[in-house]
Amino acid sequence: MLIEKFMRNLSALPGLGSRSARRIAIHLLTQKDDKMLPLIKLMQEVSENIKNCDVCGNLDSQNPCNLCTNHNRDKDVICVVANVSDLWAMERTKTYRGQYHVLGGLLSALDGIGPDKLSIQSLLDRIAQDEYAEVILALNATVDGQSTVYYLTDQLEKFYKGKVTKLAHGMPMGGELDYLDEGTIITALKSRGTL
Ligand SMILES: [Zn+2]
Repeated sequence: MLIEKFMRNLSALPGLGSRSARRIAIHLLTQKDDKMLPLIKLMQEVSENIKNCDVCGNLDSQNPCNLCTNHNRDKDVICVVANVSDLWAMERTKTYRGQYHVLGGLLSALDGIGPDKLSIQSLLDRIAQDEYAEVILALNATVDGQSTVYYLTDQLEKFYKGKVTKLAHGMPMGGELDYLDEGTIITALKSRGTL
């Protein structure tokens, strides 16, 4: 049934269970002109105009994104994050003023995600080309996050002479950046240490 397919697709979205999906479906279907049709139009516009930045992987209406083209940001430090949501979590702290690189996920033996599935080569290319004094690995304190840290550190050791740091252990184990409050991220960032 079409309406069930609609609700199933909604409930597959992050953060939505079947109950919220049902409420949203009813909300939209009972207010088609006011809510549903404008939302369809907006989603179409967003899908056409918001793209991943070719340099860092952030989502923006301009490419390269507004962070990569901002000349007031530090050019000598790069922060590596798993996802765009983690990048935005870092930005919300208004503490970090350097460059970013979004990996597009984490290495996972269990899920069969190897280095070729992530933006790792482009990261290594950037670090080899530009002069970074510091690479911050702001990856989740999960098993996958830590194996990604080990892999990147190993690759960087081969050619990179600068400092490699990671967020401090103040981060709860298994914690994902996006779920942390700004204060916790700021503390983890300020007390980051070399590996
Ligand atoms: Zn960018």
